[in-house]
Parts: sequence; structure tokens; C-alpha cells
Amino acid sequence: MLNTFHECPVKYFFKYVRNIQAPVLENTFLVGKNIHAIAAYYLKGQDISMFELSEKERLMWDILVKSEYFNLKTVRVESTVAAQIAGSWIGGRLDALVKNDNNDYFILDYKTGQIPKNPEENFQTIVYLLCCDKLLPSEYNSLNFTYISVKTGDVRNIKFTEILKKEYEEKVTRIIEDIKRLHEPAIKRTELCKLCPYSKICV
Ligand code: SF4
Repeated sequence: MLNTFHECPVKYFFKYVRNIQAPVLENTFLVGKNIHAIAAYYLKGQDISMFELSEKERLMWDILVKSEYFNLKTVRVESTVAAQIAGSWIGGRLDALVKNDNNDYFILDYKTGQIPKNPEENFQTIVYLLCCDKLLPSEYNSLNFTYISVKTGDVRNIKFTEILKKEYEEKVTRIIEDIKRLHEPAIKRTELCKLCPYSKICV
């Protein structure tokens, strides 16, 4: 929701205030759903032999299962996390949280599409890092957000620091204040409008 607001307040208004749902491409959605499902079973140590994957899904699964991060110790899978920042609750549902023997924690996020362009600025990164920082024992060695592209095998790792924590708390506080002030936002056409599913009703 925060990413949508950051991208375009009008889009946020259509989607979350007026509850107008844009259609999603079913095939892309299904591939993502299947990869996330098999990954959750695998990390919980459950039997994955009943999964029948398409050729495309099989290639993605092979990339994920061979990732060094994916084979660390599982802490949480498909788990809801939340934290209070400046009087407001933020939260989300993470794909997985894993750790190594050195108490380095990694929030894993599998992308069947592209890893966000500036992942350190992405609100998914920001929210999950802030939430897990509050959730973990204080003696953790490091906390990281790790994007894994199951399409290309690319990995982007963002390490949480005290400087980032301050920056992220300020950013979240600012955007929540902006959302609270939102009424019917003025439309400002940008390059993003060309790919926006709301473009036909956005006049
Ligand atoms: S068409 Fe453009 S202005 Fe309208 S909601 Fe989409 S991105 Fe925002």
C-alpha cells in the first residue's frame, strides 16, 4: 500500500479508498503463487513431491532451491509481521526469515518478475526491516533484506543499519502523515500512466 501511494496517490485512492480492483494477469499471478507455495512447504521441511510444476516454474524453482540463502536455518515462513512506528501500525507478510550460525538474519523475498530498481528505497524493504528489527532478539548480529529473482538468479541484499533505521522511521512517518491528509488527490500524468491499470478511469 505504501509503495502504491509513493508511486501515485491517485492510484492509491482508486485501489484502497474506492476499492476498485484492477485485473491481474492470471498466468503471472499463478506462477508466483505456485513458487511461493512450494517454497513454503520446502522451508517447513514438508513433502514437496506432490507439486506438479510447469517447465517455467521448474526452472524458477531450481534457481531458488540452489540459492545459498534459501538453505540457511528457517526461522519463519509466510509470516505476518507488524510494528508500531510513530503511533501507527505497519506490517506485511514475509516470504521467509532465515539465519546462519553467526546470527545473521535474512528476510527472503522471491521475485518471479524484476527486483525493484532501488530496493533500499522500496517500502516493502523498509517495512519488513523495521518490523523484524523489533521482532528479533537484541543480540542478533545483522539483519538483511534479500531479494532473490527466481527468473534470473540475481540477488540484492540490503543490510539494516542504525542510520537506515532512522531514515526508514522518518520515511514511514512522513508517508503515513501524507496518507492521513489524503482526500481526492489531483491527477498528475506521468510516464507511469502508460502502464497503469487505472488509466482508462483516471480522467
Ligand atoms: S493513470 Fe497515472 S495518474 Fe492515474 S492512477 Fe494511474 S499512474 Fe496515477
